[in-house]
Amino acid sequence: MKRRNFLKNSTIGTAGLITAPILASFDSTESINSLDNVDLPIQWPIAICTWNFANATAKAWEVLSAGGNSLDAVEQGVMVEEADVNNQTVGKGGRPDRDGHVTLDACIMDKDGNCGAVIYLQNITHAVSVARRVMEETPHVMLAGKGAEQFAYEKGFKKEDLLTDKSKAEWTTWKKTSQYKPVINIENHDTIGMLAIDKNGEISGACTTSGMAYKYGGRVGDSPIIGAGLFVDNEVGGATATGVGEEVVRTVGSFLIVELMRQGKTPQEACEEGVKRIMDKNKDRRDFQIGFIAINKKGETGSYCIHPGFSYSMYTKAGQVNKPSESYIKP
Ligand code: ASP
Repeated sequence: MKRRNFLKNSTIGTAGLITAPILASFDSTESINSLDNVDLPIQWPIAICTWNFANATAKAWEVLSAGGNSLDAVEQGVMVEEADVNNQTVGKGGRPDRDGHVTLDACIMDKDGNCGAVIYLQNITHAVSVARRVMEETPHVMLAGKGAEQFAYEKGFKKEDLLTDKSKAEWTTWKKTSQYKPVINIENHDTIGMLAIDKNGEISGACTTSGMAYKYGGRVGDSPIIGAGLFVDNEVGGATATGVGEEVVRTVGSFLIVELMRQGKTPQEACEEGVKRIMDKNKDRRDFQIGFIAINKKGETGSYCIHPGFSYSMYTKAGQVNKPSESYIKP
C-alpha cells in the first residue's frame, strides 16, 4: 500500500501520530509538501523556542503532554521568561529604553489565524497574556502604550515596577557614553518566540520581548508585529524571529518564511532564504544578528541566523534538546 493511502486509511490518533481527518485536509492542500517522504510518527506534540530557554519549552511541554492545546502551551511557556528577572531581554527585569523605561512588545497567534498584540506596554510583566486578552476580548488586534496598560488593569493585571536594580545600574553606566550598539548574541539570549503543535496537530505561536536595550523612547521592533516577529498559518506552519527587529520588519520575515514553506520549502530552507533576503538588502553590513526558527505542519523544524551563536530549544516526547543553528556567516 502506498504510504499516502496507508495514512488516509489509518485511524491512529495518539500523541505523536497523525489522525485521519487531519490527513484528509493535508492531502487537499496541494502546496504542502507530499507526506510520502515523511517518516512516521509525525512529531506531535512539539514545542520549540528561540535561544536556549529550556525552562520555557519545559513549561510548554508540561501543558502539551497533559493534553493541553498549543495556545495555552505557548502562552505559559513564554510567561516563564517574562517572569524571570534574570532574563534582561524579556518581561520583568528587561533592559530599559534610553530614558530608563522598560517597555514591552508581545504578540500571540492561534490555529484559526486570530492574533493579538501589545506594543510599548509598561508596568505589566505578562505582556503575552495581555496580548491574548486583546485577541480574545476585543475587536482589535493591537493595543499600544497607555491604552494597552489601561486595558490590562481593567482585566485585572497588577501594576509592577519592571526595572530591576541590575538593569537600572547597567543603564546608568550606559548613559555615560550613550552609545547605541546592539551586541551580537548579547548574553546569548534574547527575545523569546515560541511555536507549538498540540496532540490534535493545531499550531500556535507567541513572541515577547523588552526590545533592543537603550532604544529610543517609543521604538517598536518586530516582535509584536504579526508577520514580522511571528506568523502562524495552521495549514502550513509557523515562524518567529529574534534579533535586530528593524531588519525583520523590513522583510516581513516570519510571514515570508511561512509563505516559503507553503510553496514547498522545508522549515530549514525557508529560514535560510529569510536570512538571505535580509543579507541581500544589507550588502555592506555584517554587524547585526537575526535568528529565525520555523516549524511545519508535520512537526519538522529549522533555524538559521546571521552570526554563529544562535540556537533553539525543542521539546518532544523524545525529550528536550538545544539545537545550534547554522549561520550565514560561517564560524
Ligand atoms: N527582536 C527584538 C526587537 O527588535 C529584539 C531582539 O530579539 O533582540 O525588539
